[in-house]
Amino acid sequence: MAEKSFKYVIVGGGVAAGYAAREFAKQGVKPGELAIISKEAVAPYERPALSKAYLFPEGKLPGFHVCVGSGGERLLPEWYAEKGISLILSTEIVKADLASKTLVSSAGESFKYQTLLIATGSTVLKLSDFGVKGADSKNIFYLREIDDADQLVEALKAKKNGKAVIVGGGYIGLELSAVLRLNNIEVNMVYPEPWCMPRLFTESIAAFYEGYYKNKGVNIIKGTVAVGFDTHPNGEVKAVKLKDGRVLEADIVVVGVGAIPLTSLFEGQVETDIRGIKTNAFFKTSAPDVYAVGDVATFPMKMYNDVRRVEHVDHSRKSAEQAVKAIYANEQGKSIDEYDYLPYFYSRAFDLSWQFYGDNKGETVLFGDTDPNSATHKFGQYWIKDGKIVGAFLESGTPEENKALAKVAKVQPAATLDQLAQEGIGFASKI
Ligand SMILES: Cc1cc2nc3c(=O)[nH]c(=O)nc-3n(C[C@H](O)[C@H](O)[C@H](O)COP(=O)(O)OP(=O)(O)OC[C@H]3O[C@@H](n4cnc5c(N)ncnc54)[C@H](O)[C@@H]3O)c2cc1C
Repeated sequence: MAEKSFKYVIVGGGVAAGYAAREFAKQGVKPGELAIISKEAVAPYERPALSKAYLFPEGKLPGFHVCVGSGGERLLPEWYAEKGISLILSTEIVKADLASKTLVSSAGESFKYQTLLIATGSTVLKLSDFGVKGADSKNIFYLREIDDADQLVEALKAKKNGKAVIVGGGYIGLELSAVLRLNNIEVNMVYPEPWCMPRLFTESIAAFYEGYYKNKGVNIIKGTVAVGFDTHPNGEVKAVKLKDGRVLEADIVVVGVGAIPLTSLFEGQVETDIRGIKTNAFFKTSAPDVYAVGDVATFPMKMYNDVRRVEHVDHSRKSAEQAVKAIYANEQGKSIDEYDYLPYFYSRAFDLSWQFYGDNKGETVLFGDTDPNSATHKFGQYWIKDGKIVGAFLESGTPEENKALAKVAKVQPAATLDQLAQEGIGFASKI
């Protein structure tokens, strides 16, 4: 089979790839120089939409491609064609030889590059990986790619007003429970931890969401895990067996128990750390002319003087832009600033919407109205370390308040717990 050759190749066609393409275009990439090779059949899109509007009962999204999320131009497939960027879709790379700068697809095609951007993202952890019995039954779903979402949409149509069990109490669990309720599905949500989203939420924050979800008809079962599934003779899931002995009927199961970065193609060829590909502040890896961005990159977090891997969309966009700027600066013998990232996470479900900036370390102080039964649900939390604010969370903030939240986490002003409890978001708005 003929070998194709490009100056720049991005392997992976998700969020980071789309934002990298836009930055390549800004930097003046010439027609024929850049290729994106993706396992998915569609052009890069804003992945977070898959667990939100993509599953709304009223149907699919009108605007789905990058860069909708950052308020930019929509990069429809035509955009790539106009720029002379090759979108090589439905193509999985199964071998990467960084020494000879060659990638090989499952169909046996070879691709040569001068500079490589690794943007392979993450894949889901599956219950079958842990040997859970019946975990390969039909209608047990994971959500990572558009194909997964399309299959779930079909199941929602086939199982109208049916019953679902959501396994996991993280982002996917919370967002999917909400969207399945909106589809009029009966929802049980199961997780082993004492409260939902324990990696970010404190018990007090979680208490609000758990109360709110209960009011919306989501039945939350904590402190236990799914240990097996019963199956109908046609292979479809029938029930979820819990470790505490309970059995929950289910027409649909959605599992969200974590993700792992897709780095195995490059094993032994690049330095790694925290299960990711180690990069510098320009997302350059230890291999010559190879960059890694998005979920797979383990990078220096300048603000906190440590190294981290971040599985969130804001970082995938910004790291992609930083890497492409660095590639061009390097070619032109120029320098650019080091990546200086302020962690930013968000989620939306039902009519709720929260944002978090900074680090969730140290003592906490809650403010606002945390009663899930009240009409307003504006509340927040600060994290204070060594007398300084290091993290800030806000539910139902206005755009101005969310901006203030980001600023307070970046500036890290000194504050006392009493002061913050009294002033709430007003404190951040003054900074
Ligand atoms: C359902 C869902 C909801 C989310 N919601 C939020 C949210 O609300 N807020 C937030 O901050 N983050 C959210 N995230 C996380 C966010 O989407 C990711 O952090 C982000 O997509 C990472 O970007 P990426 O480009 O590194 O990887 P991805 O966007 O995952 O893209 C990786 C791409 O590489 C392709 N690929 C992988 N291996 C190969 C190969 N060998 N050959 C060819 N192609 C390959 C994949 O098919 C995929 O197209 C969500 C994630 C999911 C799955």
